[in-house]
Amino acid sequence: MSQARLERLRALFAAAEIDALWVSGPENIRYLSGFSDPRDARLLVTLDGTTLYTDARYTLQAAEESPLPAFIARTPQTYQHAAESLLGRQVGIEAGQLTVAEHGELGARLSGGTVATSGLVEGLRLVKEEQEIELIRAAQGLADAAFEALRPGIRAGAHEEELAAELEHFLRRRGAKAAFDFTVASGPRGALPHAGASRRTLAEDELVTLDFGAQREGYHSDMTRTVAVGSPSEELRRLYRAVLEAERAAVAAVRPGAICSDLDAAAREVLAGHGLGEYFAHSLGHGVGLAIHEGPGLRAGNEQPLQAGMVVTIEPGVYLPGVGGVRIEDLLLVTEGGHEVLSRSPTEEL
Ligand code: ZN
Ligand code: ZN
Repeated sequence: MSQARLERLRALFAAAEIDALWVSGPENIRYLSGFSDPRDARLLVTLDGTTLYTDARYTLQAAEESPLPAFIARTPQTYQHAAESLLGRQVGIEAGQLTVAEHGELGARLSGGTVATSGLVEGLRLVKEEQEIELIRAAQGLADAAFEALRPGIRAGAHEEELAAELEHFLRRRGAKAAFDFTVASGPRGALPHAGASRRTLAEDELVTLDFGAQREGYHSDMTRTVAVGSPSEELRRLYRAVLEAERAAVAAVRPGAICSDLDAAAREVLAGHGLGEYFAHSLGHGVGLAIHEGPGLRAGNEQPLQAGMVVTIEPGVYLPGVGGVRIEDLLLVTEGGHEVLSRSPTEEL
């Protein structure tokens, strides 16, 4: 696995005008090496070799998890070793990942130059391999099971934080982790798209938005459901139905060749038709894999076509200050014939 990915990366070097790549993005390191603590590691990929750099806490772990030769050292020796093996070669750095401090440390020791690159490894990660898809599918399966177990407890009197903790506990007991800080946003807090979970107590006749996912072996899932507590007002139901309609329209259009910005526009058009266009304040969706948010971005301006093997979210929402909000998010695998919805939790009809 690791070697095939490295060969695909090396094939990009000539066009990027580099002889080597200093990999510092954690998900990129994990993707290429298999090492599961990539925040404490770096990777140097040259045309004829690859070195995994990490420190002595990870000597055994690196040997167990990665087929790549490891150089165990503290950071000054790491940079020195890398510089000595580069000797005048043009080294690509990941412009969106490398800190200014690290760039300075490495650059000071190099005899050749550095070349800013962007998206080289991220581009390889866009289309998932079968084994990656199975890990995402398994993470989503756990999230669906967690939601099914939680659903009866989503009622007036429950605390947002307790609901979030119960979801996380369910995942932890099954060998997974929370994919991110979950959102449980009830009543007027539903108007905050990225609300987290608070001490607020759920009240009767309101909506609650739950955005959550599982992470196992580095791979994530991501799903949002908005559910009713009691009998929400007709205004809230109208918001909910409009978002569900927009979500279904975008999901139906997911297939290989579909343009990311067109999918975003399809959902936006439905909401605009309900007079809610201005309240859909974020993009339609994103890729999911080793990172919870990765390419492709399903947003205005991204003319990238979807490809079979991509895993993306579709998540339109509307957020009305002082009133509340609705978001519905599904996780989809793009298949040769169209798509498969990986998130199985039912959406409510309101
Ligand atoms: Zn989400
Ligand atoms: Zn998402």
